[in-house]
Amino acid sequence: MRVWGSDIFGKEWEDFWILLPGVPARTDRGFLGFCSVCLFRLQGELCLFDTGSYADRSLLLQQLGELRIDPIDIKYLMLSHLHYDHCLNLSLFPRAAVFLSRKDFVYARRVLAGEVVDSAVADNAVELLDRRDCTFVDEEMDLFGEVSLKVFPGHTPGGLVAVLRRNVRVALCGDVVKNACELVNRKPSMVTTDYDVAVRSMEKLLEVADHFIPGHDSPFSCRDGEIVLLSEMSIKISADLDLSKRTPLSMELRRGINYGIAFSFSL
Ligand SMILES: [Zn+2]
Repeated sequence: MRVWGSDIFGKEWEDFWILLPGVPARTDRGFLGFCSVCLFRLQGELCLFDTGSYADRSLLLQQLGELRIDPIDIKYLMLSHLHYDHCLNLSLFPRAAVFLSRKDFVYARRVLAGEVVDSAVADNAVELLDRRDCTFVDEEMDLFGEVSLKVFPGHTPGGLVAVLRRNVRVALCGDVVKNACELVNRKPSMVTTDYDVAVRSMEKLLEVADHFIPGHDSPFSCRDGEIVLLSEMSIKISADLDLSKRTPLSMELRRGINYGIAFSFSL
């Protein structure tokens, strides 16, 4: 489940992990909402990018436990935006200083006041940030010469992207780019601004880094306009349907690093 940065970006990324890989899947009941949750060291301190939602909570804690990390020791927390699938586990990290875009904070307040409709903004988004050490990013902010925080409109009015600069530049995209499919097809979904603005943000984002970790997909690079996948993606869905068996029926969707699509089914 956990992806090590050094496996895909080189040995300078030993202190970078995709704790929970993003999943570009939905059902006829709705969006599954499993986002990419990344952890890395910034000036020697632990920094988390996005938190996932309640459905991710036990696996997130398990992943931190396996790295022998106490959530209380996370010093910085970057929120790409305030949709429920990215921010609901904020309360697990009570000592973390939070970074988010000012535009999205104002937007969430407007949604919760009933001025704008956005069914994905967490009902308690503003409450979660109350009495927290928050830094609001307007357009761009540099952190210690190691990370650039940049704001891109599209999915939300001000999606926060973190660009980590080491031997290569890696962008943690949030939902400015949710998945490789929507990028390749220039077809952003769930857009809150102009559609063209969202497409332009995706294109601009490609210029600021070498590798990309989308909000809901596995990492990729972009070379001469071509998307190159850097790790496989899989999701297994189980359902308790068969009354005669103790094991659930399950289905696995998988995309290999060479774009091989596989589907397996177990009864
Ligand atoms: Zn999302």
